[in-house]
Amino acid sequence: MILVRYGEIAIKGRKRREFERKLAENIQKALRRKGIIGKVKVIRGRILVDAPDEAAEIIAKIPGVVSVSPARAMDYDEVPVYLKKALRQFNPRSFKVETQRLDKTFLKTSMEVNREIGAFIVKEFGWKVDLENPELTVGIEIINGKAYVFFEKIRGVGGLPVGTQGKVVVLLSGGIDSPVAAFLMLKRGAEVIALHFDQGTNARSVVERVVDILSDYSPEPIELIVENHFEVLKPYVSALAKAKLREWTCVVCKVAMLRRAAEIARERGALGIVTGDSLGQVASQTLANLYFETMSVDFPVHRPLLGMDKEEIVAIARRIGTYEAFLEYPHCDCPFRPERVVTGGKLEEFRRVLAVLEEAGLRG
Ligand code: ATP
Ligand code: MG
Repeated sequence: MILVRYGEIAIKGRKRREFERKLAENIQKALRRKGIIGKVKVIRGRILVDAPDEAAEIIAKIPGVVSVSPARAMDYDEVPVYLKKALRQFNPRSFKVETQRLDKTFLKTSMEVNREIGAFIVKEFGWKVDLENPELTVGIEIINGKAYVFFEKIRGVGGLPVGTQGKVVVLLSGGIDSPVAAFLMLKRGAEVIALHFDQGTNARSVVERVVDILSDYSPEPIELIVENHFEVLKPYVSALAKAKLREWTCVVCKVAMLRRAAEIARERGALGIVTGDSLGQVASQTLANLYFETMSVDFPVHRPLLGMDKEEIVAIARRIGTYEAFLEYPHCDCPFRPERVVTGGKLEEFRRVLAVLEEAGLRG
């Protein structure tokens, strides 16, 4: 039995029921994909999953889940007998009992349960009580007249259930940043379609691994669309070359990607495009360039990492497991990259670039 906690504070009424239903459905789908069939039930602010303990790690990755505990359900009277056996696997320097009564019709208060069960454990095992910093916490939650007993709380990713906030197309490069951007969107409940522009290196296999890792945070496996980068870029590069505007290639490369992403987003009913840009992280990610890129495409572009430092991004990438995949990322030298790259271009200059593209039949 797995006890699942979710963030319920901010959500009320009908929205809350939708949240619970979607979360339960997402948990079930995620488990089924890993070959675990378990009954999933929503009761009184918790989701109970009738599945083996191993399911806990899988469930902890589902957005909307705050924490997860493998637990045993029993009548309250049976708790001492159960603990007498179950606690033999531990030998802590100190412990405490932490009770939460979700069912207020239960006759004892949380404090009374803490004291009663705490006293029993002291008598049986002689362990020291430490309410501040215990080595072992014996958790008890009273739900619908039953006691759920557990010894572990696995932290979940939090956020909102995927599928409650519509769909986005994420530009996924195989670098460190864009997988984190994709994860943050999943975490806030958006469905993600990954779009990669293949540059003919083995980045593609890294991206496939990343998509696999990210899929653990999604009820359905994430769809990966791969486009040929050079084909998408070629007409743009030749238009720039003809007009002697090659220093705009890197900005225009992003424009080409965003425009293709917008087409796909429209086809798929997605409501936004997401990139892994972080302000000033590399020479090309200036506010001016981000301005030019955004104004060139008739679709909303979201940049969830814009205000984050590299260390913060790396910390998330490590936690979610995409950092390891990145280490195999080949750093290809783009054959289109010009000698000089614009970083602080002027709006009037960029308008000329757009006009040149337009003449070549390339519009957003
Ligand atoms: P990342 O670490 O995500 O690769 P980066 O720091 O290398 O980002 P850029 O190469 O400037 O930054 O790319 C900025 C953003 O453009 C990326 O975060 C990603 O969203 C998108 N992008 C870049 N290259 C590709 C690609 N080949 N396919 C899809 N998206 C890409
Ligand atoms: Mg990159």
